[in-house]
Amino acid sequence: MWRAEAGPLHYLRGHWVREARSELIVSNGRIQQIRPLRPGRDAARSVVLPGFHDSHLHLRAAAAAKLSVDLSASSSIPALLASLRSRAGDFEGRWIRGWGWDESTLKERRAPTIAEIDSVTASQPCALHHRTGKVVILNSAAWRILTDPDSGSNSIEEPLRADAALLQKMPRQPENSVESALADLSCELAAAGVTSVTDATATNTWDDIARMDEWVRRGVVRQRVNALLAFDQVSAVSGSEGGMQTHGTVRVLGAKVAAPADGIAERVRHVRGYGWPVAVHATEPDELEAALAAIEECGPPTWGRDRIEHLGLPLPGHLERIRAGRIAVTTNPAFVTERAQKYRELLSAVEQEWLYPLRSVLAQGIPLAAASDRPVTSATPLGTMAAAVHRRPRAGGAEPLGAEERVTPDEALALVTDRAEVDGSALDRQGGRGSLASNLHLNADLVLLSDDPRRLLEDTKVLATFVGGHAIWGSPEVG
Ligand SMILES: [Zn+2]
Repeated sequence: MWRAEAGPLHYLRGHWVREARSELIVSNGRIQQIRPLRPGRDAARSVVLPGFHDSHLHLRAAAAAKLSVDLSASSSIPALLASLRSRAGDFEGRWIRGWGWDESTLKERRAPTIAEIDSVTASQPCALHHRTGKVVILNSAAWRILTDPDSGSNSIEEPLRADAALLQKMPRQPENSVESALADLSCELAAAGVTSVTDATATNTWDDIARMDEWVRRGVVRQRVNALLAFDQVSAVSGSEGGMQTHGTVRVLGAKVAAPADGIAERVRHVRGYGWPVAVHATEPDELEAALAAIEECGPPTWGRDRIEHLGLPLPGHLERIRAGRIAVTTNPAFVTERAQKYRELLSAVEQEWLYPLRSVLAQGIPLAAASDRPVTSATPLGTMAAAVHRRPRAGGAEPLGAEERVTPDEALALVTDRAEVDGSALDRQGGRGSLASNLHLNADLVLLSDDPRRLLEDTKVLATFVGGHAIWGSPEVG
């Protein structure tokens, strides 16, 4: 048994309220008691509050990235090649996989060439996944394996789209290694205080969602899992009337649409034909315009809530239309801090002001949640809060990017905890967003922090994380 003293932090009708100190009694891996402490006792600084939610990530891709050579910190092509060379031996007899290269963060501002990759991988096949997951480059050995030698097709320098037919012939990573990487990922998330996630992968089939349910049941993933379904999978649901779908433990929040702007309308119409809400990937203004026009044409879904994913660069008028359509937004504050350099180079001063807006979205009353987009960033909820409040990297003393779009620490905390509105799940019966009464009880999803997260201290620690009252992190009893 162990006990912890903490000040409960409740979210009540859009405001955080700190309560008198309480004592948590934990034994057999679960919260047994929460009782108020007598006033006047020496107060520790720790707080207990609703667990964090990561509203847009990719479980399998994040696990796969863990099994790959991490190239995301490489700042030049020689550095990237050196990382590959030093890890090539770990992939003896298998494909070398790299993840996380990004031409915008490489000094040369270009992808490595096939000849450059060959120079460090020799005859081993190698595939390097872009940080966004959208494109892949292969070396010569990989091209030889994947293409028919008689067809005379040669390797091409142009990166391949990740959904290219050719790449489907690449050997999949063994399921048992994916699962052990997933268990590590889940543990990392628990250590960051995350109690629930939404898998926003655009290719999710019902089988993929069944697998997520299995991961949760077998304890591979210890967070609650919500998911979006690929747009072309909604027709496979029988009797889709009657609201939000669940698949075992997994709640399905809607259908994901990620397409070039000219393909968005058709996909939104298809999904809406079944009454489902859509979650449309929109980092670019033309994607957002297409998404809004299609949603306006189709009218509201029969259940749940439409979402815009990322909301990279809305133009004047877009936010008003998002509000009018009762659409929610998931955003990625860490993009602004991690890609500040790239945005400063590529975007005009005005565009930089409009990038990944927060303040002006909240000002419209649009439901807004923050997400890491793992594996694209590995931002923790506390890191995401700091990014939303400061909009500049922690180190380096750079100017904020879009200073007008900064939010208060209270608002930033709501971005990583308050998910009912964005998910479109039933709003709290007692009328608040996450009411006082429901926040803190024996079966709640909770996180215990060493300090009030709104102070944004760099050394604030996650002391324990509970899902349904069960400790998944921090308790001495967690194995
Ligand atoms: Zn994503």
